[in-house]
Amino acid sequence: MRMKIACVVGARPNFIKLAPIIRALRSHADVFRPVLVHTGQHFDPKMSDVFFSDLEMPRPDHFLNIGSGTQAEQTAAIITRFDELCEEHKFDRVLVVGDVTSTMACAITAAKRQIPVDHVEAGLRSFDRSMPEELNRIITDSLSDLLFVTERSGVENLRREGHGDDRIHLVGNVMIDTLFTYVDAAIARKRYESFNLTRREYALVTLHRPSNVDSPERLMIIVEHLATIAKKVPIVFPVHPRTRKVFNAHTQASNVLGCEPLGYLDFVSMMEGAKFVITDSGGIQEETTALGVPCLTLRTTTERPSTLETGTNTLIGDNVADLAKPVAEILEGRYKTGAMPPLWDGHAAERIVALLRGKGPR
Ligand code: UDP
Repeated sequence: MRMKIACVVGARPNFIKLAPIIRALRSHADVFRPVLVHTGQHFDPKMSDVFFSDLEMPRPDHFLNIGSGTQAEQTAAIITRFDELCEEHKFDRVLVVGDVTSTMACAITAAKRQIPVDHVEAGLRSFDRSMPEELNRIITDSLSDLLFVTERSGVENLRREGHGDDRIHLVGNVMIDTLFTYVDAAIARKRYESFNLTRREYALVTLHRPSNVDSPERLMIIVEHLATIAKKVPIVFPVHPRTRKVFNAHTQASNVLGCEPLGYLDFVSMMEGAKFVITDSGGIQEETTALGVPCLTLRTTTERPSTLETGTNTLIGDNVADLAKPVAEILEGRYKTGAMPPLWDGHAAERIVALLRGKGPR
């Protein structure tokens, strides 16, 4: 009997992480029957549909259509609808990725139904419980059976929290699997040319963490600093829907080129060609490390310390003026080069599927 495994996606970074796993599960169709569930947490075509085409993902088998709302409303809606789906389908396992509301809500639903949950990207900790993602990570890990980890810090965190070694598996990084699959096609796009820019002669910015974008005053300060940097190097800023609410006519600066969120291939094209990236994203810290592009992270903590210790990332903290020094280092060619963390080799999904295979049907 094939293992019926619900694979959950909800928000932009989930699509990128699940794509190689779905592909690997489908290549073992004699063993697995993956059922793709999209909660609809991100439903804007620019945050969702484009990823299915760019990443050659099958259409979701089930769309829960939860739409927008507070975290509490979305959590409640996901639990209610995913529970109905679990009742109908009798899944053998539920696989969740990352740290978004959908990850946590589906893990809770499955665990309550005694369905084993497997978490991809387990063990990452910022140790900042004011971040919604940190709570999502802790809750999901505490309910999970297999804990698939991207970097050594995750193994240590899970051990410290009392998880047994039999459940913790350092498998590498599925986001980097996807990056390696598509990087050549992305480079060929030369997306920067559509902004009249040249490779390595612009910077790329993304911001969407509540601590940076929910307050117009804070975002205004950040944009003022970006405008100063943009006098030396043009900046492209694909604006996340959350950020769009406050990044408006008042906050825009003429030399910072705001645009809609980009599809995956376009974004990787821009990221690979950038002189440096300024971000508060989780995944982009990892992708820039894999690409060898300098990354300046506008946060006080990171749950991905290997990008600091091994990779190209620097934590700026919350004083935006502190961008000036590393930007100068980059422009003068004095910034660190970085290396690849262990097992970020494009084969994480295969390792995950091999471990799932060992579980057999219930
Ligand atoms: N990304 C994208 N288009 C954009 C901005 C980001 O395709 O305009 C991709 C990026 O390459 C990475 C993922 O989205 O793979 C990161 O998502 P996000 O920053 O929203 O989430 P986080 O990683 O912070 O959870």
